[in-house]
Amino acid sequence: MVLIIAVAVIAVLIVGIRAIWHKPDASTLSRKTPAVVVVIDPAHGGSDVGSSAEGVLEKNVTLAMANKMSALASEFPSLRIVLARSTDADVSADGRIAVASTEAAQLFVALHVNAFGQPTALGIETLVDSTHKSGDASWTFAAAVQQGVVASTGGKDRGVRAQGSSFARLTIPAASALIGFVTTPEERAKMIDPAYQELVARGILQGIANYVAAAGVTPVSSTQTVPLEKGQTAKPASSTTP
Ligand SMILES: [Zn+2]
Repeated sequence: MVLIIAVAVIAVLIVGIRAIWHKPDASTLSRKTPAVVVVIDPAHGGSDVGSSAEGVLEKNVTLAMANKMSALASEFPSLRIVLARSTDADVSADGRIAVASTEAAQLFVALHVNAFGQPTALGIETLVDSTHKSGDASWTFAAAVQQGVVASTGGKDRGVRAQGSSFARLTIPAASALIGFVTTPEERAKMIDPAYQELVARGILQGIANYVAAAGVTPVSSTQTVPLEKGQTAKPASSTTP
């Protein structure tokens, strides 16, 4: 009898403690700081190696940069970084754009490396889809990303230019950062150097954060949905990718 009472008392105590322990705490729930969701898209992947030279593959360079950006993201609390791929996987253009939709992303940055027939081309450039009019949000965003990378790396500034891409379907500001020429030996050496990859990653993040601050971009509530799907299906896919 005593044993039964003792077991019952212990059981009541355990249940009580667990109830207190798991009691929802409003201050805890509201502590999560809202942030602007940014999709980082390491271009290529899997069977699509992208540009290459001397065994250095674009798909690996872009993935390394993206992973660096994830690692550094906590230094930029105004941003929440989501990767369109985090492994060496084939991801379709539609799949990459779908990540922006499902994550309610507000900004999108693709990562590429450049290639040229001569081993002398140098520098950083950023592309916007050619459907954008000069001076619109994507152009301003691309300029901020470009300036961020150039400031961080000290690389040659090749500026921002337009090119046809699959991002015509995105309804959020989008840019493609080309972080150097894999065909130029000195830039190829840099892009596989983890220290340089970190400079690029930090530069892009700083550029995005600068744009968010300057343009007054505020986080979209997680309960809101970004009307990407309708916009995406309204237009056919462009056939070219930078
Ligand atoms: Zn590429």
